Amino acid sequence: MLNRRTLIKRLSAMPLVGGLFGGTTPLQSVLATSAVAPRNVLKELGLRTFINAAGTYTAMTGSLMEDDVVETIQASSKEFVMLDDVQTKVGEKIAALTHAESAVVTAGCFSAMTLGLAGVLTGMDQKKVEQLPHLEGTDMKSEVIAQKAHNIGYSHALTNTGCKIIQVETLEEAEKAINGKTALLWFLNIQSDKGQIQHQEWVALGKKHNIPTMIDMAADVPPVENLWKFNDMGFDLVCVSGGKAMRGPQSAGILMGKKQYIAAARLSMPPRGSTIGRGMKVNKEEILGMYVALDKFIAQDHQKEWKMLEDRIATIANAVKSVNGVTVETYAPALGNHTPSMRIMWETGKVNLTTKALQEQLRTGNPSIEVFGEPNGISITAWMLKPGQEKIVAKRIKEELTKASV
Ligand SMILES: *Cc1c(COP(=O)(O)O)cnc(C)c1O
Repeated sequence: MLNRRTLIKRLSAMPLVGGLFGGTTPLQSVLATSAVAPRNVLKELGLRTFINAAGTYTAMTGSLMEDDVVETIQASSKEFVMLDDVQTKVGEKIAALTHAESAVVTAGCFSAMTLGLAGVLTGMDQKKVEQLPHLEGTDMKSEVIAQKAHNIGYSHALTNTGCKIIQVETLEEAEKAINGKTALLWFLNIQSDKGQIQHQEWVALGKKHNIPTMIDMAADVPPVENLWKFNDMGFDLVCVSGGKAMRGPQSAGILMGKKQYIAAARLSMPPRGSTIGRGMKVNKEEILGMYVALDKFIAQDHQKEWKMLEDRIATIANAVKSVNGVTVETYAPALGNHTPSMRIMWETGKVNLTTKALQEQLRTGNPSIEVFGEPNGISITAWMLKPGQEKIVAKRIKEELTKASV
């Protein structure tokens, strides 16, 4: 704590301060500099911080929240409100922004899927809510149909409810798989080019058999339109991550869709206990922060943002491709993490370096940098960089590649 005495001591020890800080008096500048110097716990604990040129990976703590989001979190942390009231009000705002009937903030996309399915299974029956995930001996449904190509790991969110996944490949198989136990038809957007059945067909199949459909579009904004496209298309439930491109709290996501399912999903959510979702709590600060992040994301100039990210990628590409034997490929994935990206590859005869060694050099360098390792090179995205960091990344990668040139 800075008391009056130390403040005066510091003032007398800083004769030049007034001149350096232009219009402010020495007292104001000392107050400004001292009062905002917070405890640096990252440093205290010796945690490595780094420039994130890789992307929105959970292992790397996802994304960084913007000031408006952090300010919302800080301001709301000073007051009590009823948790259900926050969810209801924020849900209405999010639903209006995304063309959904209703919405709720969940602890990420993964929990949105678990809770959405829980709502489908239980409806508004409190007894069923408490029976989850033990479906046997109840009259709840127990099967979720998914395309084999979509079943890449995230479906554990669905089996958390006690349901099992029935894999299908063709539309015919899907239709055949539907029976009295079918609770949900689940679709994974990021793999939609790998499966044979497309979005519209999936939705139509659900409507035909009166079975709800859900889409996991966790990492599929941008494009921003995806936030309402799947609601408009007729998916009953849409699940998205909040802490990826939208830069909301890392442990937040959104479940949106039909009113009856969102209301039912909330029966499995905090503050209610004796539920499978009691451990998926989202605090009021994050619920509000998620709303502000979404609102801001939708309003931003997406074309301008895209151009800025392309420029950053070009800065890095131009620097490293001058190294003999190095090739650069720029691209933007069509599905998932749709953002300007690049791949850097090199001829082993000309640059004597493994991917792992390059990653390690960048990691242990100053400042530390993380890039994504690929089978024959590295890949980079620019959206998690702070302004100017692209120059540091360009310089460091070029340095390491040059050093390894033979
Ligand atoms: C990131 C991701 C998830 C999990 O999302 P969280 O918000 O981290 O819970 C689920 N599905 C896909 C396809 C993802 O990319």
